[in-house]
Amino acid sequence: MCNNCPKNPVYKLHSGEQLCQNCFFKYFEKKVRKTIRVYKLVEKKDEIAVAVSGGKDSLTVLDILYNIYKENKKITLKALMIDEGIKGYRNECIAPTKKFCKERKIPLEIVSYKKEFSFDLDQVVKGRKPCSVCGVLRRSLLNSYAKKLQVKKLATGHNLDDEAQTIIMNQFRKNIGASARLGPMTGIEDHEAFVRRIKPLYFMSEKEIMTYAFLKGIVREFNECPYNKESYRNQVREMLNNFEELYPGTKHSIVSSFMEILPALQKQEKKGKIKYCMKCKEPSSQDVCQKCAVLEQLKLPQ
Ligand code: SF4
Ligand SMILES: [Zn+2]
Ligand SMILES: [Zn+2]
Repeated sequence: MCNNCPKNPVYKLHSGEQLCQNCFFKYFEKKVRKTIRVYKLVEKKDEIAVAVSGGKDSLTVLDILYNIYKENKKITLKALMIDEGIKGYRNECIAPTKKFCKERKIPLEIVSYKKEFSFDLDQVVKGRKPCSVCGVLRRSLLNSYAKKLQVKKLATGHNLDDEAQTIIMNQFRKNIGASARLGPMTGIEDHEAFVRRIKPLYFMSEKEIMTYAFLKGIVREFNECPYNKESYRNQVREMLNNFEELYPGTKHSIVSSFMEILPALQKQEKKGKIKYCMKCKEPSSQDVCQKCAVLEQLKLPQ
């Protein structure tokens, strides 16, 4: 039986509590609202772009933000999608995402690698690590298009699992500076060069989101990028999933202990000054930004 009412349970939380569908929806939405409130992710008169991939996480964020703010005329929502050019994956997400946005009257901007960089990801990955190329280019496009859309925040579907993986990856790669830019809201302070990223699903696990998205009918099937299996992240993901299975609560512990040291990391990072890429003039920590370095490696026009 559900812990809160006499109905049959559909989900067991990592604390052992069991919830029926209705109580699970309430638990999920309450926790997301709390994250938004406690970390001040959305403020009065915010204009927000939601980075949508067409997957369960980003469409859940879009749906929840839409439901919370649809009556609030001072908060505007837009959707921003990057089409990397991954056959059999991204192209299949585009039509359902268009439909999803149309039903909610949310304007959707689609930006493709093909148009921006004159190639599809599929054309350039041979002999390379697809995610290293793709991640850098996508991050750069999301920031530059969020600025073009003149939004104040960029909401992403990052969840507890993603964050736990990134924290561990940064530790394994001795890249602590990058961890200072994590947290429910990225960036240490407002800066004209960056649109701050907000992660309303920060404390929700991938399993919880999958259950929510499926039961709510937000997605009907779960697609996975064909390149994901090869990635470093995927190995860390599998390792953490194994640990979670053996020691439930591991991912929560990683993220909550990280949140305790985050202010110290941010304080340290604040000392570094933002530079601008000498090629494209976008913000960068080096003379040449990662996007231009990747494009240079690919020997393709910028
Ligand atoms: S899994 Fe890698 S290649 Fe696929 S969309 Fe994500 S970053 Fe890009
Ligand atoms: Zn119940
Ligand atoms: Zn550059």
